[in-house]
Amino acid sequence: MRKTRRRPQAAFLGLLLAATLGLVGCAGGTDNSPSTATTSPSASTAPATAASSELVGKPWVSSTLQGNLPAQAPAAKDDLYTHYAYDWLKEHQQQSTSNMTDHVKDFSDAIVSIINDESKSSPELDQLRIFYGQAIDTEALKEAGISELKPYLDRIDAVASIDELNALLLADDFPFSPFILANIATYDLRQSMCVCVFSNLLFADPYYAGGMYYQDADTPEMQQAMKSALMEEGKYVIRDLMELGLSEDEAKAAIEPLMDFEKTYAKHAEYSGKYLKAGFGATAQSARDSAFTPDEAFALCPNFPLKETLAKLKKDSSPLYLVQPECLKAFNDCWTDENLESLKLIAKAKLLQETRRYRDQTATNAQREADGLPVLDSATLAYYSCTSLNTLAQVVAKAYTSDVLGADAKARMESMTHDLLGEFRDLISKTTWVSDESRSKLLEKIDHMTLNILEPEGGYFDYSDLKLKTTADGGTLMGNYLTLKQYRIDRESEMVGQPARAVASWFTFGPTVMNATYDPSDNSINIYPGFVSSLIYTPDMSDTDLLATIGFTIAHEISHGFDFIGTQFNAYGEANPVFTEGDVEAFSQRTTRLADYYSTMEPMPGVNCDGRQLVTEAAADLSGMQATLLLAKKTEGFDYDRFCSTLGTEWAEARNQEMFLASLADTHPLINLRINVCSQMCDEMYDALGVQEGDGMYLAPEQRVLIWGEKA
Ligand SMILES: [Zn+2]
Repeated sequence: MRKTRRRPQAAFLGLLLAATLGLVGCAGGTDNSPSTATTSPSASTAPATAASSELVGKPWVSSTLQGNLPAQAPAAKDDLYTHYAYDWLKEHQQQSTSNMTDHVKDFSDAIVSIINDESKSSPELDQLRIFYGQAIDTEALKEAGISELKPYLDRIDAVASIDELNALLLADDFPFSPFILANIATYDLRQSMCVCVFSNLLFADPYYAGGMYYQDADTPEMQQAMKSALMEEGKYVIRDLMELGLSEDEAKAAIEPLMDFEKTYAKHAEYSGKYLKAGFGATAQSARDSAFTPDEAFALCPNFPLKETLAKLKKDSSPLYLVQPECLKAFNDCWTDENLESLKLIAKAKLLQETRRYRDQTATNAQREADGLPVLDSATLAYYSCTSLNTLAQVVAKAYTSDVLGADAKARMESMTHDLLGEFRDLISKTTWVSDESRSKLLEKIDHMTLNILEPEGGYFDYSDLKLKTTADGGTLMGNYLTLKQYRIDRESEMVGQPARAVASWFTFGPTVMNATYDPSDNSINIYPGFVSSLIYTPDMSDTDLLATIGFTIAHEISHGFDFIGTQFNAYGEANPVFTEGDVEAFSQRTTRLADYYSTMEPMPGVNCDGRQLVTEAAADLSGMQATLLLAKKTEGFDYDRFCSTLGTEWAEARNQEMFLASLADTHPLINLRINVCSQMCDEMYDALGVQEGDGMYLAPEQRVLIWGEKA
């Protein structure tokens, strides 16, 4: 559903399209890595202290902003979210975090205990044990320092021209391509798997945020929040550079010009907000415009050796999906002798960044300490080494799904998903504003939706032929990292040109990520096991609780198939909008009403929500809640109070001011608004909470907006 900063906006149409649950807060990185996942308060921004006389936020107090919590919990009928999240919020006024990120440890604890349980054995688990064993050997890692990386860094240092840099990057014995990301992708399910290319970035995660933090904001405050967002990663880059022997001041001095340099091309990276503000059909058009033949793509890069780089990665033969052609062209323009020193420094920093989890992680913990975050123990750090896309995320997710969650979890979630799809079928069938022609295409989307629930359709990828080198045989963490990286490149390249499958995100987004997505380019919902902590699922959970946690999430993701972006793609992921022209008009009227309602909200004095930017996520919440509550009516013993309580606690989060501001740039509304708004649109909640005219949750019937169903 949602996420801010490093949020997956994206998956394939370049990580531009996939709509997400968006869980983690501003500094969140939901691959749950130590440098990105845990929300960290910036040292310069102490948590706000006790609220003074005035609390900010209209129509509801911004209760996720630290220091802005009312002295008493409001009644549920006045402010549902704050009422139910209140106890958690009260306890979390000091450190910026969320209840979901606090549960990340469930996942790592479970995996560590599987690794330590010698009674469990399989070829894949054996490989995981080798890698984990090397990752937890902190003494050996300390002793190694950057010695294994040093020869590669020295070769970058020795480069004296762009031609030499090209030769180095293309050399067979140089296992890094720091400037370009090339992942498998689908255009749509009627094509074969292709390769999705985009410029890699140092300070912003290109998967999630793209270049949004490099784009000019409307206000100085927001500009500062964007800069702070970049500096979240920048702090770790400084630590990396210090490992090269630079003093802290020297490393800081090196950072600023690099950020400016990266901005020259990263500012051209588009982000999903742009398409939300464009007319209906713009996203589909952009998707069609992103398809390039190899020759067309290579012609955009006369300076940078794109063709040769992809050939080295064995991914140069298929049509290409260029996520950010303008950014790529701008990057190509920077590939000159004049910029050689900046490019070399970025290359070195990228190598250090990429290998951070496979070296001694003292620096990571030092930064966490400086940020006021708890340091991570060696088991947790070793777990993170095992769960990156390049290492064993597939193996870890598979073990967690089968050994921790178990078959019942998948069966219950799938059954609930089918029930929810039935509710959506019902809602769409009863919607009077939509034409029969569009309706049949919408129902076709439901019938053909791929349900990747806890595992990709067709099962996890088999890593049993992997052969890592044990420590006894001279293997090291860094050496095995490079083996694993090549293993992934080989597996992915085998898929290119094969029939499209809705699995690409499990390789490029990662199944241990704490999130869920809908991907319009293959009409799939993806519920990653990394999302399913004990907050979301336990075997003894009641149906009421399960509907509040995974049910609402699944409904939210399904609903993205029918939102402003999702309806621009058909049942097969083709960029052919499902609406007739008349339906676009009727649909837009309803989504505009929802957007306009959000735009009236003022989380901070003088700062209103941008409804247009929020509209797809707001719509997914709304229709997701509608379907969830319809299913609730058919659920024996359903308890509304319990449902709201579980929902509020699950989504409890507390942010310092800087992160709170940064989250306003997200495509997901603030969590308190998300839950309150979608609740106040559904009649069932009025009865359940006893909401009357004059209450804070009350909205007159004519002001309630629904997009689907007989009342829409
Ligand atoms: Zn979403």
